[in-house]
Formats: sequence, structure tokens, C-alpha cells
Amino acid sequence: MREYLGIAPAYRGSNCSKSQAPGPMISLLPVRDRSCIDPNKEFERSNTFEGLMPFYWNIISGCTNGCPYCRVKDFTIEKEGTWAPKFHPGRLNAPYGSRPIFGHRAWRIYVAALGDFFCDGVPDEWISATMDVIRDTPRWWYFFCTKCPKRASEIGYPDNTAVATSIDTVARLKIAEEYMPQVNSPFRIAACSPLLERLVFKGPAIFDGFMIFPREPSGSFPVFWPPLDWVESIIDQAESVGALLWVKSDLIRHYGLDAKKTKLQSLIHATDAELRSHIAKKRRTS
Ligand code: SF4
Repeated sequence: MREYLGIAPAYRGSNCSKSQAPGPMISLLPVRDRSCIDPNKEFERSNTFEGLMPFYWNIISGCTNGCPYCRVKDFTIEKEGTWAPKFHPGRLNAPYGSRPIFGHRAWRIYVAALGDFFCDGVPDEWISATMDVIRDTPRWWYFFCTKCPKRASEIGYPDNTAVATSIDTVARLKIAEEYMPQVNSPFRIAACSPLLERLVFKGPAIFDGFMIFPREPSGSFPVFWPPLDWVESIIDQAESVGALLWVKSDLIRHYGLDAKKTKLQSLIHATDAELRSHIAKKRRTS
């Protein structure tokens, strides 16, 4: 059975020739049918991030980090023709051509879901060109996730950004704690993605949000469910500093966690307005 989301610009429907249709209209969008979406004109719709980020903006694809459990490498090679970092300058137009979908997470964009925006091999010019567009389109809220927090700490961010660093091991936690305090985005996230070791943060307060993922199966890697006490420890550390939380739904199901507990999924429950208010308050007090 097909999955439908509800409200979307009519031009996302089955007839590509309607791409210039003026104004948003109500239509039923088959979530998995992206055949008519032109990434040079609009953001791609996300159907894998559980609604936390409704859109992808794959302005850069590819990665040189070499994580053995990577789940996007094969798909990226198939879609973009290479796993080497690649810039898609035509897609700089997408923020201007897109419309928000209905809902309180309508403005959230996941940048470079098919790679790492800050990895080696991405020239500064690609990053600058992207940041210029982000600055020019403040209505959208742009989310980055990187395993390169050192480079991420060397960038100047507009207020409409959030920067997550992916922390899977204790070694990576040390690097994150060294560089993330210097990341000047107003919303910093510790993405325990995947959570492969017990993580004890020295200074969890530098993060505004925490995310927890199991390792999902890929290639020769089976699923890895982090032990429950590791998961609960991250939840406790996040709650101790008032950070927002998001736990991958299959991890919640695996351990029968109480998904209705407000704080457990507070990152997804927070409205765009609440996040913007948090950011504005933080800017005023910093
Ligand atoms: S950083 Fe992300 S995209 Fe890059 S290899 Fe690792 S898992 Fe894949």
C-alpha cells in the first residue's frame, strides 16, 4: 500500500508539465514517488528520517570518511555516479523554488544527506556558495550532520542552522568535545549515530539536542542494538542539561521505551517556532 502525506504543492503530482503551476494547492503526494521532483528547482522530499526533517538538500554528495557501516554509499554511487565529493551548483536554486509542506516541521532541511558536507575533498568554495544561499533564505532551517567537527568549527553559520556531529565511539566523543564548543551555529546536536560504545559526556551542556540511533544493517554488518543502559545513560545526560532528544523509532520499539514520554522525542515535538525562539534567546544571551 502506498503511503501518503497529505498536503503538497500540486506540481509534485504525476504530471511534470505542471512544474510552473502558480501557488500551493492541496494534493495527495505519493511519498515514494520522486520521479517528477527536479532537485535544481526544489528540495527533495525525505521519506527516511521519520518526519524530523521533511526535506533533503543534496547540494553536495559523497564522502571520504570511510565508515565501514555506511548505508548511503551504494545508493549515492547509483544516483550521483560517484562517491567522491561532488558539488551540484544547479541545486543552489532549490531553496527559492520550494514550498514548505504542511506541519510544524515544515521548514527543516537536511543538507547533504548523501555524504558529509565538511569532509576532506570538499573545497571551501562549495561551502561558501552554499552558506551564501542559506543566509539569503532565512525562512528555511538547515540541519548539518558531520563526522568532521574540526572543519565544521571553522565556518561562520547563519542563525537558521543546526549542526550535529556524529559520535559513534569514545574516540569520536573526545574529538567532538574538543571542537563542537567552537561551532557557532546556535543549535548544536550530539548525534549518537550509531551508538557503538557507552558514551559519557564531560560537558553535555554544549549540546542543545541529542539523537540516538542503532546501527542499521548494511553490507556485512548486522543490526546492532546498543545496550539499554547505554541508551538510558544518553537520555539521562541529555535531560540533565535540558537538551532536546530524538531516539530512532525502531530503537524505541526494540526496548519498549515510552515514546509518549514528552522529553523522549522532544526534538521532533518542538515546533519550528519553538526552535527559532530557542535560537533567538541563545543569541541574545551569548
Ligand atoms: S560520514 Fe556518513 S556518509 Fe560518510 S562514510 Fe560515514 S556514514 Fe557514510
